Amino acid sequence: MEMKIIIAIDGHSSCGKSTMAKQLAKQIGYVYVDTGAMYRAVTLYAMRNGMFPDEGIREEELKKAVNNGDIHINFKFNPCTGRPDTYLNNEKVEDEIRQMAVSNRVSLIAALPFVRALLTEQQQAMGKEKGIVMDGRDIGTAVFPQAELKIFVTASAKVRAQRRYDELMGKAKTEEEKAKLNFDEILKNVEERDYLDSHRETSPLKQAKDAVVLDNSEMTIEEQNAWLLERFQEKLNK
Ligand code: C5P
Repeated sequence: MEMKIIIAIDGHSSCGKSTMAKQLAKQIGYVYVDTGAMYRAVTLYAMRNGMFPDEGIREEELKKAVNNGDIHINFKFNPCTGRPDTYLNNEKVEDEIRQMAVSNRVSLIAALPFVRALLTEQQQAMGKEKGIVMDGRDIGTAVFPQAELKIFVTASAKVRAQRRYDELMGKAKTEEEKAKLNFDEILKNVEERDYLDSHRETSPLKQAKDAVVLDNSEMTIEEQNAWLLERFQEKLNK
């Protein structure tokens, strides 16, 4: 029988983890899971339920919602885009969770231990059968410390902000939406999330000891994909 493994792809914000993880999963016939989308969906839930006052977050209210089982997140494959869409309580929220309003708040939510516990458990269940490519911040360290292949991706903050800017520009539907996009604001968000993600107490973003580092500042998507496929083949041939 063909051996299936777990591939953990961690790294900084906006360094193209999801693009590479998605492409790899498709090529090798594995399931792709974007764990950032799960943290974003919880953030959207909190926003919609008025849990972000002027400062901070109404932690107890969110904890209650988590304990009551009020937050259901799942993915459904979208044959039009060839990618999974994120659903929050049966509503497709794929576009909404990518907006800046969510990006600006998600690191606060991701620092809450009860949110991490809930999502980590769900992620572990998704990887039970292996044959999975999961991207996030703590997959190789906390979710699947036993993953057979761990990649830690990084690129300079400026390169990452430019990529996110281009992505949001591509998605903007009107001139007004385009005019609202501000490179400096996006760069600030990338840097702030790097800081918060690396300094939180529970499962901070850090490179697993046995991870292979990929700095893709100067790489094209094709080069990166070829590099990744080689790492995968190496593991299988061992
Ligand atoms: O990957 P993405 O940028 O969509 O992730 C959004 C945010 O979710 C990150 O900045 C981080 O705060 C949080 N996150 C996390 N652990 C993961 C995935 C994402 O803390 N495994």
